Amino acid sequence: MDIKKDILEFIGDKSLVEDINFEVSNLIIYTKNRDFFLDNAETVHSLVNREKKRIEIRLDTSLLMQESKAEESIRKIAVPEADVKEVWFDKDRSLVYIEAMRPELLSASNKKFINQIKHETGWTPSLSRFPLIKSDIVRAVREMLYSNSAFRRKLLNSIGEKIYYSNFEVNEKYWVRISALGGFGHVGRSAVFVQTPMSNVLLDCGVDVSNQREPVPRLDAPEFDLAKLDAVVITHSHLDHCGFLPALYKYGYKGPVYSTAPTRDVMTLLHLDYISLANKKNSKQMFDVDDIKEMLKHSIVLPYHEVTDITPDFRVTLHNAGHILGSSMVHLNIGNGFYNLLYTGDFKYANSKTLNRAENVFDRVEGLIMESTYGGDNDQQPSREEAEQFFLDIITKTIEKNGKVLVPVLGVGRAQELMLLIEEWGRFGLIPEIPVIVDGMLWDVTAIYTVYPEFMNSETKSRIIEYNNNPFTAPSFKHTVSEEERQQVLSGGPAIIIATSGMMNGGPSVTYFANMCEDEKNSVVLVSYQGAGTLGRTLQNGGREVEIEVKGKLKKMDVKAMIYSIEGFSGHSDRLQLERYLRDIKPKPRKIFLVHGEESKLQEFSRYVRRRFHVETLTPHVLDAVRLK
Ligand SMILES: [Zn+2]
Ligand SMILES: [Zn+2]
Repeated sequence: MDIKKDILEFIGDKSLVEDINFEVSNLIIYTKNRDFFLDNAETVHSLVNREKKRIEIRLDTSLLMQESKAEESIRKIAVPEADVKEVWFDKDRSLVYIEAMRPELLSASNKKFINQIKHETGWTPSLSRFPLIKSDIVRAVREMLYSNSAFRRKLLNSIGEKIYYSNFEVNEKYWVRISALGGFGHVGRSAVFVQTPMSNVLLDCGVDVSNQREPVPRLDAPEFDLAKLDAVVITHSHLDHCGFLPALYKYGYKGPVYSTAPTRDVMTLLHLDYISLANKKNSKQMFDVDDIKEMLKHSIVLPYHEVTDITPDFRVTLHNAGHILGSSMVHLNIGNGFYNLLYTGDFKYANSKTLNRAENVFDRVEGLIMESTYGGDNDQQPSREEAEQFFLDIITKTIEKNGKVLVPVLGVGRAQELMLLIEEWGRFGLIPEIPVIVDGMLWDVTAIYTVYPEFMNSETKSRIIEYNNNPFTAPSFKHTVSEEERQQVLSGGPAIIIATSGMMNGGPSVTYFANMCEDEKNSVVLVSYQGAGTLGRTLQNGGREVEIEVKGKLKKMDVKAMIYSIEGFSGHSDRLQLERYLRDIKPKPRKIFLVHGEESKLQEFSRYVRRRFHVETLTPHVLDAVRLK
């Protein structure tokens, strides 16, 4: 059956339909008839039931009100308290994105507001939140996205047509297999390749910054052919899961990349940051800004729980992973129920300041690919309360000595968690009023946090929506960017400094460290996973004579500052939480793959899982391939 023909026949009056386009698995009907555009609820309802697809009717682009006039009308229609900041036009898709400081004030009267805009301007509006923290980079991402409207309409349609019009049959010859391209038996360069006779899908495409020899996924595996890759799905924006993605576009990939909206925004930021860091170090770049733009042009965002066809035989659903903002577990329904695979990405099975714990209930799960960073027999982390108390004690003692506290963090996740914690301590008077330095791109990432409260737990979400109660904009937070500003902080009094990178293998955290480490008054608090071979790991293991690059030259330094490790803030599940997850997950998987952990820890955990749950447990190595069914 040709779905477009069927829709035409159902509507009957062909003059009502100018064009029908796929937007991945949704269908958009463009019309030149204003009455049909404004009043079509019944038709859409019947069509959705008939075709089992999301269907929307938009006005043909030739009849849209001119952009500047439309913007004027929109600003007039919106209640002033909503504070409309930006209006973006996606002109070939007849869409207008309205970014307001308080979009819920528009959506309170949503239907009326939306209808009025449609009626007056012809554009179909979509509401979103403007970042409460000003960020040029957030703006640049939006600009890159919306300036390629014609390209995107064509791309989304061609993806949809390919999915819809390709035939596949689940017969006795049908199979599903996975190949380990990276992140198996170690942490870093995560990449899982899932293949059927019909489709080639890549889950994550990261880099391993601590591995000089093999920093990127093994895309040279014989079964992997970039020209045949149909789709990429990214679980979250940490570089060990998305750091090599722009390079795929550099080498000619032309297909879509799926993720949540926060993942798309944050990873773009981190990619841009990676380039500027590589430029500063004069090191070879894996990709450049044009490749990042290409990636953005091909990006498709999905909310949690929306079931979407991404190839003829792959249906994807993203679920909250509790790890960082927008982090997802990827559920794949392969071959129309033939096999259901869940890939956890990085996940936290406990509530945190910003997020709810990872989801554990699914329709079907036969295969589970699960991260086990802290799967070792001794990887029990202290409780969150203990970790918080320890951190508070370190801060208090350091301030008493008139010292500074440096907290190296990954760009996204722990930084925002700690900001919320420090904001709370400040509010309750548990720490004195001292500046809390949020360095460089951390501030831009935090700006993105303020755009997507709907991805957070209810408490933080409501504080952001309350608008003047936003914890991320507390007055003690100071933003530094330049070397000059950093030097000012370093020569000033007590402060808490939150800076990247988390493993101290470059970035501002190393600059601060080089200036602070020889003074015993200061403290360094390691809260992230420290990869083998990094400065962070050396310090964690007790190394106190270190070599640090200062102004391009290696300098020997004697570390006198106090070095602390706190595990309890990790965005990963500790051993107990991993165990609990396997106890609680519904339904029970039949095959478990343990990934994203050091070999010895994976072995320890796999022994436990086999003994406790009597389920087939595998720990493949990079370049292994396993048939799932
Ligand atoms: Zn992560
Ligand atoms: Zn990871």
